[in-house]
Amino acid sequence: MGMKYFILDMDGTIYLGDRLFPDVLFFLERVRKVGGDYIFLTNNSSKSSRDYVEKLGRLGIEVGEERVLVSTHQAIEYLARVGLRKVYLVGTDILAEQLLDADFQLESASPECVLVGFDLTLTYAKLERACYFIQRGCPWFGTHPDKVCPTERGSIPDCGSICACIEAATGVPPARVFGKPSRGMAQMALERLGGSLEQTAVVGDRLYTDMEMALRCGLHGFLVLTGESTLEDWRGYPGRDRVRVWRNLGEIAESIL
Ligand SMILES: [Mg+2]
Repeated sequence: MGMKYFILDMDGTIYLGDRLFPDVLFFLERVRKVGGDYIFLTNNSSKSSRDYVEKLGRLGIEVGEERVLVSTHQAIEYLARVGLRKVYLVGTDILAEQLLDADFQLESASPECVLVGFDLTLTYAKLERACYFIQRGCPWFGTHPDKVCPTERGSIPDCGSICACIEAATGVPPARVFGKPSRGMAQMALERLGGSLEQTAVVGDRLYTDMEMALRCGLHGFLVLTGESTLEDWRGYPGRDRVRVWRNLGEIAESIL
């Protein structure tokens, strides 16, 4: 059975900033030609799937919202399932809107939990409040573990770094961190894709999120060298024997589709 289902990372895999990599449209077309499917998956919880759909559309990729998964979806699904509805949020207005749309209450007096996202509007007051609730026993969660986010001007602190700050201050680790590489995130993507494990690959440029998720879940791990990781990084990665390295998406299309 050939490989035909793909869980695709975005930043560093299909684009960098606003620049779409040249072989991406060709790759997506080939996937459709062999009767396969793909879903886009990002840990970046500062934006919504609607924002990503718009961005992809501008770059020439037409997709519906159901084909764009963000770590936020997993966080919302989990918190709703365990009944934690009153949330103190350390996150952007976009993340706040999504919680409100999913019938959560944003609570800054007596929350049931604290949720930390990639907060580009972070203030000391928010950190202080989050730490206060956590020290009083509130369970807390991170939307994803990435420590930095690449930008044209270099790396900036991401959700993992904000979580590290809170953990250092409180001595309490997060109860759960969503997004890649968690199994729950892969499970959501697999359910939407509907392919078998043997026919599904995670394609991404990061070893400790994209490839780690693939290996944890028994999916194929395809590392592309268009973003963060270099061949040197791959050589130093403990799971390297189970990760296949490609120059870019075009090479995957030409070789196996
Ligand atoms: Mg990436």
